[in-house]
Amino acid sequence: MPKHNITDFNGIIMYRKDYQERDLLVKILTREFGKKMFFVRGAKKRGFKLTADILPFTYGKYIGDIKSEGLSYINSSKSTEQFKNISNDIFKNAYVTYIMSLIDFAFPDSEVLTSWYEPFFTGMKLVDQGLDAAVIANIFEVQLLPVFGVQPELRGCVICGQTNPPLDYSESYGGLLCEKHYHLDPRRMHLDQRTVYYLRQFSVLDLKSLHSINVKSETKKHLRHFLDQIYDDTVGVHPKSKRFIDQMNEWEGPQTSI
Ligand SMILES: [Zn+2]
Repeated sequence: MPKHNITDFNGIIMYRKDYQERDLLVKILTREFGKKMFFVRGAKKRGFKLTADILPFTYGKYIGDIKSEGLSYINSSKSTEQFKNISNDIFKNAYVTYIMSLIDFAFPDSEVLTSWYEPFFTGMKLVDQGLDAAVIANIFEVQLLPVFGVQPELRGCVICGQTNPPLDYSESYGGLLCEKHYHLDPRRMHLDQRTVYYLRQFSVLDLKSLHSINVKSETKKHLRHFLDQIYDDTVGVHPKSKRFIDQMNEWEGPQTSI
């Protein structure tokens, strides 16, 4: 018999999926139990009492039956709020959805993600407040690399530890090289120093201390290009939400600024 565990929990709605005619499956990142899939019976019926509590980009306190395996259940909510600006803006929406899918890929369900819950919440809050969503996504992409088994050395040169610019990234060495050691990798990435600077910042950044973002669109393109290459070559994760972002950037043309 599966054990019942009716309890309070904090959660962020990750995504929803239709399930039969009237029901929904809702994936929630909980602070206490990690990612969990909830079966919400009657969720699509008119006048359903939890309709607002399970909208996309909603977070708050819920009460539910948490199963160690299989589907969990939401009984009621205590206080929930929606990030309205994310919900109403196709760009913010796309980038936050992408960050969510990376987190979904990166961790198995039910693994407690205490150290990711707050940063993820903070990241959403910053996007909702109007900080650059593309850059916030870059920060998560960089910080999630070790979770995907890629631990790029961004502190300094992988050979000698030198931290002064100029530095460049080498895929074959899995990290930065200083000018003295450039010759070791003829296929180094030839990154500009501004891009290297941001990558190093992002890898150690505490989102809570972030109050503004002002990255030039040129540099944003370079960051996007670098991270696409690393994700293609070494991570191998390609969420559908990322393809949508790529399309969006094509519509926007080369002057993309968000
Ligand atoms: Zn060196």
